[in-house]
Amino acid sequence: MTVEYGDQDARAVGPALAKGLRMRCPSCGKGHMFHAYLKVSDTCPACGTELHHHQADDAPAYFTILAVGHVIVPLAAVVERVAMPAMWIHMALWIPLSLATALFSLPRIKGALVALQWALRMHGFDGKGNKMEGHLAPTEPGAAA
Ligand SMILES: [Zn+2]
Repeated sequence: MTVEYGDQDARAVGPALAKGLRMRCPSCGKGHMFHAYLKVSDTCPACGTELHHHQADDAPAYFTILAVGHVIVPLAAVVERVAMPAMWIHMALWIPLSLATALFSLPRIKGALVALQWALRMHGFDGKGNKMEGHLAPTEPGAAA
């Protein structure tokens, strides 16, 4: 799917999502999107694309919980149904697996959401800035915290 906005260049959503899932810049796919575990770089270190416009907020956590829950809960139910292990085995198995899956997925899902916002030219990714009624948005450099 390619989204076009007037006279601006079209941005393909699928490739941008794939780059975001790899935690790479949605524009060039080479630069790292994050400079820390979940801290999005202000600009791509490879191509200079501005990434600070993102407003992922709680969406990455929401989608991570949704995805991890839809994997772990059915697995736990199947294991309980088939093997009926002791409760401590469930705890020893599913808690670390849930944590590991969530920690692995969270930055990838956040990368995909930032890439989606970039592809759809949301929140200032349209090149027109991130201003809301004359005020700087909280994610824009120079805005008060
Ligand atoms: Zn880039």
